Amino acid sequence: MAQTKNYRIETRSVHAGSSENLAGAVAPPIHLSTTFRRDPEGNLASDFIYGRSGNPDRTALERAIADLEGGAECVSFASGLAAVHSLLLTLSPGDLVLAPLDAYHGTVRLAKESLARWGLRTRFTDFLDPEDVTAGLDERPALVILETPSNPTLRITDIAAVAARCRAAGALIAVDNTWMTPVLQRPLALGADIVIHATTKYFGGHSDVTGGAVVLREGLELASRLRFVQTETGPVPSPFDAWLLRRGMRTLPVRIRAQSATAGKLAEFLSGHPRVVQTFYPGLASDPGHEVQTRQGDGYGAMLSFRALGGEDHAKGVLSRVKLFTRATSLGGVESLVEHRALVEGPDTKTPRDLIRVSVGLEHPDDLIADLDQALG
Ligand SMILES: *Cc1c(COP(=O)(O)O)cnc(C)c1O
Repeated sequence: MAQTKNYRIETRSVHAGSSENLAGAVAPPIHLSTTFRRDPEGNLASDFIYGRSGNPDRTALERAIADLEGGAECVSFASGLAAVHSLLLTLSPGDLVLAPLDAYHGTVRLAKESLARWGLRTRFTDFLDPEDVTAGLDERPALVILETPSNPTLRITDIAAVAARCRAAGALIAVDNTWMTPVLQRPLALGADIVIHATTKYFGGHSDVTGGAVVLREGLELASRLRFVQTETGPVPSPFDAWLLRRGMRTLPVRIRAQSATAGKLAEFLSGHPRVVQTFYPGLASDPGHEVQTRQGDGYGAMLSFRALGGEDHAKGVLSRVKLFTRATSLGGVESLVEHRALVEGPDTKTPRDLIRVSVGLEHPDDLIADLDQALG
């Protein structure tokens, strides 16, 4: 199926980017070959030359992700952080990047440790504070990176409002859309230039493949530079990883919608629980981000956090007592996970010590609520 524009997102998730194959196989083949044949005159038989620069499974995946995000082009990577890294390497030493104060800790570390030594400047900005945004944009950043909802307190940034200000200031704006996915939120339609994904999470959806992607809007002249950086440095997904991600994507809309519906039920339960101090979930009517997320998205996602009454000891007690939830980091899989986020982020984290982060999976909501109820004690 070449042209999927007129179909809805569920249909495009199944069919977008499919390439022809000679055998007529319904499930696509995997191309493990690292090199591609030339004819006697040296002409290539296809668009592919060598595995690091391109592979048919990768192309099929990239077309499908670009289709769902409404972008012109997608470049897929070996991990989410590889995607962020290559995007930042398209800038020049001395350039300034604005990143959220509470960005994904790997993004913060990459900017502060590795790329600072290379000459990239990063200003950590509170995008919910218009004056801080003004101060940041006054310093003429080359790129602004947003992450909404934030990790782990699910603060919601108004994408359209910040994108309009970036456009006026001449800065490119990228949105990390990992937590919402294009099913629930489409940043390019809200004025962003670039979308970033850790496809490790909901695109894969089964906690068994690591990957990343960068999607570019129509008319943005960045694809060849980004592909050049990737081909020169090599953070490419393997053919099998690209194939697994494309397979996971086919069920993305049904998974994320079911997981989000369950997350809403868990958030309601937690927000009424006497041993919970605070629940962070934009789907709650009382949440400070509720109104903006209702306006800018088609749902509230399947991630939530809560603070246990009684501090760090109670939080660790809850984690020790869960039976159905798995104690592990990451998110987006079919199995529900819990983690003590401050422990994962390390000693200089600002995350409250009594905070538990939850990735809601596809189990029955009543079973998950019963498990949290017994674990809260
Ligand atoms: C997981 C994650 C990343 C990093 O992705 P990896 O595949 O682990 O490198 C980046 N951003 C967000 C929001 C994430 O959740």
